[in-house]
Amino acid sequence: MMKKVLIANRGEIAVRIHRACKELGLKTVAVHSKADQDSMHVMLADESVCIGPAAAKDSYLNIAAILTAAMITGADAIHPGYGFLSENASFVDMVCEHDITFIGPTAEHIRVMGDKITAIQTVKKHGIPTVPGSDGEVKDTQHACEIGDKIGYPVLIKAAGGGGGKGMKVAYNQKELCHLFPIAKNEAAQNFGNNIVYIEKFLEKPRHIEIQVMADQHGNVVHLGERDCSLQRHNQKVLEECPSPAISTEIRDKIGMIVANAMKKIGYHSIGTIEFLYENGEFYFIEMNTRLQVEHPVTEMVYNIDLVKEQIKIAMGEKLSHKQKDIIASGHAIECRVNAEDPFTFMPCPGQIKLYHPPGGLGVRVDSHLYTGYKIPPYYDSMIGKLIIWAQSREECLKRLDNALSEYVITDTKTNLLLHKKLIDNHDIQKGQYDIHWLEKFVKNISQDIEDDVSEAL
Ligand code: ADP
Repeated sequence: MMKKVLIANRGEIAVRIHRACKELGLKTVAVHSKADQDSMHVMLADESVCIGPAAAKDSYLNIAAILTAAMITGADAIHPGYGFLSENASFVDMVCEHDITFIGPTAEHIRVMGDKITAIQTVKKHGIPTVPGSDGEVKDTQHACEIGDKIGYPVLIKAAGGGGGKGMKVAYNQKELCHLFPIAKNEAAQNFGNNIVYIEKFLEKPRHIEIQVMADQHGNVVHLGERDCSLQRHNQKVLEECPSPAISTEIRDKIGMIVANAMKKIGYHSIGTIEFLYENGEFYFIEMNTRLQVEHPVTEMVYNIDLVKEQIKIAMGEKLSHKQKDIIASGHAIECRVNAEDPFTFMPCPGQIKLYHPPGGLGVRVDSHLYTGYKIPPYYDSMIGKLIIWAQSREECLKRLDNALSEYVITDTKTNLLLHKKLIDNHDIQKGQYDIHWLEKFVKNISQDIEDDVSEAL
């Protein structure tokens, strides 16, 4: 029986997990770095333990310190949140060796999905559509050209050890491929510890669509539709919505069932997200995240299901409380990631919050660890919260979001609230017409406008 959960994370997600634990009658242990001692998650938790200095490698990534904190507080479970140790299979092994429940999937599933080539081969075997490509490592230029001729140009050379959009090169024809292939292999060796590369068809105008799944330890799997996370800058998601303006009920049901069936065959349990590129009506698998996602709240709002509580109950060995037929979408939700950064240069802006006033009202949710007087430390991610709006329709959701953004007060640090305001004023966004490259172009055009607005306001 699980009684006490150590939350191995910080910021808004540590607060989010604490709330779910409390609703389930579980005690919580916060761990924190020296820089985070005045953090909201530390104040809310039943107990807290300082696990090291500010640098994440010495604290939130310090496995020995986290396990020691769990032992001395008698925590019988660890929730990793997202980022940090959430997809570290060795950490999961060590947690289990100490007879502590890891709130997430098995180390083995994390390993399989953490290796890009194995992940693609595994999901493909179980019926999930993948990007046409080399089906594994490409050893030399001649092999690369054979693949290029077979799948057609443009092609993308990807480093198996890459991530976050790093280690990729596009070749538009055979000549470019011959030139870029050895460079890509060399760079992979230098940057990612091995020179393994593979090749995929390069999709020119895809959307990023991801499917949320929940699977228990008894073989029951359900899907909770999709999230559209196409609005990205430098591979960082900025605004996410559920449902996607590009996906019909039929398409959702079809891909959702394909994914749920594959997860059942793989024997996956916990919550998880299968990410796809979506172009011309076809889905192409890119990766699976074996953890809670930052953007999980949009799914929660539309399906009225608490994903974190479900994740914890699955780890406790409980059966899913929902059958597929009980999972019903209602309305529309949009999440804006609120970052402490300059709205046009995107430079992080840590510092003290002089006044904090979050918006409110029907369908307005703010997941954040901010409070007036809080000092945003410079050592971590610049995300300081998420504004999540729900409404009956997408149109109403955008109007409600507009109001909420106007009400949101965070001074004196710079935030990207202004960028979100500009985004939702845009005709393409209002029509739901965008792909994964849209935001980069928009940012280029808008930077000057935002700069002008800011200097006018000063
Ligand atoms: P991550 O960096 O998140 O581990 P990838 O490296 O596979 O994932 O992809 C990063 C991003 O690169 C994707 O989110 C997508 O925007 C883009 N991308 C990946 N594969 C392709 C492809 N075959 N065609 C076009 N864009 C792609």
